[in-house]
Amino acid sequence: MLEEKETMEKRGVTVWFTGLSGAGKTTISRAVEQKLRERGYMVEILDGDIVRENLTKGLGFSKEDRDENIRRIGFVAHLLTRNGVIVLVSAISPYREMRREVRGRIANFVEVFVNAPLNVCESRDVKGLYKKARAGEIKHFTGIDDPYESPEQPDVECRTDLESEEESVEKVLKALQDSGYISAEELATLA
Ligand code: ADP
Repeated sequence: MLEEKETMEKRGVTVWFTGLSGAGKTTISRAVEQKLRERGYMVEILDGDIVRENLTKGLGFSKEDRDENIRRIGFVAHLLTRNGVIVLVSAISPYREMRREVRGRIANFVEVFVNAPLNVCESRDVKGLYKKARAGEIKHFTGIDDPYESPEQPDVECRTDLESEEESVEKVLKALQDSGYISAEELATLA
């Protein structure tokens, strides 16, 4: 008979981080990845920036292309999830309807709204992109001249302007524990 932990390790899930550029998706997902890997879980990250260099290379930032980008990420996330992997997707994914579509295709899905006000994201300007968008050097930049539709009922909300990175990471791990994707016992040792 399988130990409880072995059974649980086989339960894949897609954890979908959505939010503005600079909100903290990459930071939180990488920290979550590290914590889970240390405990022996199979984890894969699908980061929007990296995906756009290979899987979705050539796609732009029109609504059509953004939707196609998310659809392809969702497809790969689905394949990995059904094979027992914890998939951490970090992508702006600005359209509510597309997030809903992807969620509908993946049985085990946790939506994380990585939320910080635009002015905070802009002041962080991690990649210098807001500056370029304000100068008109980049068009269709989410939050500036392209929409971002906030999740209405995310499973987790990380207010990264109000909480520390550790608190945000802990919230995500707790949600995974509460839904039975990682064991409580493991989480207790993560803190
Ligand atoms: P995104 O992937 O959403 O574009 P990044 O993770 O690249 O955003 O950048 C987020 C920035 O915000 C980082 O510089 C990070 O250190 C900072 N930050 C401040 N507070 C938090 C928090 N609670 N969670 C995540 N990132 C935070």
